[in-house]
Amino acid sequence: MLVVQKYGGTSVGDLDRIQNVANKVAKTAKEGNDVVVIVSAMSGETNKLLDYARHFSKNPPQREVDLLVSSGERVTSALLSIALNEMGYPAIAMTGRQAGIKTDSHHTKARIDSIDPQPMQQQLKEGKIVVVAGFQGINENGDVTTLGRGGSDLTAVAIAGALDADVCEIYTDVDGIYTTDPRIEPKAKRLKTISYDEMLELASLGAKVMQSRSVELAKKLNVDILVKSSFKETDNEGTLITKESKDMEKVLVSGIALDKNQARVTVFGLEDKPGINAELFNKLADKQINVDMIIQNVGHDGQANVTFTVPATELEMTKSVMQDFENRSNEINYDDSIAKVSVVGVGMKSHSGIAAKAFDTMAKENINIQMISTSEIKISMVIDEKYGELAVRALHAAYELDK
Ligand code: ASP
Ligand code: MG
Repeated sequence: MLVVQKYGGTSVGDLDRIQNVANKVAKTAKEGNDVVVIVSAMSGETNKLLDYARHFSKNPPQREVDLLVSSGERVTSALLSIALNEMGYPAIAMTGRQAGIKTDSHHTKARIDSIDPQPMQQQLKEGKIVVVAGFQGINENGDVTTLGRGGSDLTAVAIAGALDADVCEIYTDVDGIYTTDPRIEPKAKRLKTISYDEMLELASLGAKVMQSRSVELAKKLNVDILVKSSFKETDNEGTLITKESKDMEKVLVSGIALDKNQARVTVFGLEDKPGINAELFNKLADKQINVDMIIQNVGHDGQANVTFTVPATELEMTKSVMQDFENRSNEINYDDSIAKVSVVGVGMKSHSGIAAKAFDTMAKENINIQMISTSEIKISMVIDEKYGELAVRALHAAYELDK
């Protein structure tokens, strides 16, 4: 088998942990597999390097920032390769450039354009373990670029795709994806499998585990991802993120997500005429404000009410955009003490009554639902922030996710 393994910052957080990773990689190689390992920088290292840059400049040249932060991953890749060679396992460390990773020129958030698999394949053929510094590539000028925070995940998925690996294992500090945040509901269970789309919808659960962009890429390239703990020795089957199958639809709901970082904006009595929403949402988009849910009621007497949510961190900017609409509406009202709870599952496509059960559950707990939105595989409800955790636990029980 060709196995791609990625180890995150905490997994390579100190020298003992790097040795632990070397042992794991060696074991995989000893079992007869070809192994390509992608490493992150030691935890905290990227932030430290960014602080160094800020010591000299508020606005450092992005090209230099990329050269700087790419060094964190180079350190861990070289150390891991040294450790493996010392154990008698021939290994070679490669930078993004040496691994054939070409990107566009958007410094600090570059996209991968192509990967030439040949240099890595050559080393594998020579019997070596290939250790690649994650998070980086080069642009057409030969300058080092980086792929955005958390970008080592993206390196791993892209390499797994380019090499047509059998599996892409992501080793991290949790042992998989859970039905909900175990800190909110200790009865949360680890999922054996989850589809790419469910994983993307459960972003608030998954974000700490995997960067969304990497899940999107895995879906596009059809790469199976296995999320596992790098610290557990036993009971470490992990969660497989893979393409949707008929089997998955038998499970009605896979998980419950909670997002407390949203704020609600309601515009009462907005002019009801063609083009007004286009103007409003274009103005928000121009400021890069990420609108999530939008609801508009049926207009009445030339006026309509429009409600939408934005990230709480973007509320101040939203308020300044909304000034333009103050004299074209009756009232604009803001609330940042809201929570969005989402019920996610591919089984919703083929079963009815799932939304009704969510609303019943809120009714039983006497929680008022302020907004509702649905997609093919998700029901989201906006409620008062202080009931967020309660709603999660109640829904988790109602869909029997603890069973
Ligand atoms: N070291 C980079 C970061 O901290 C990339 C990664 O860890 O995936 O964002
Ligand atoms: Mg990470």
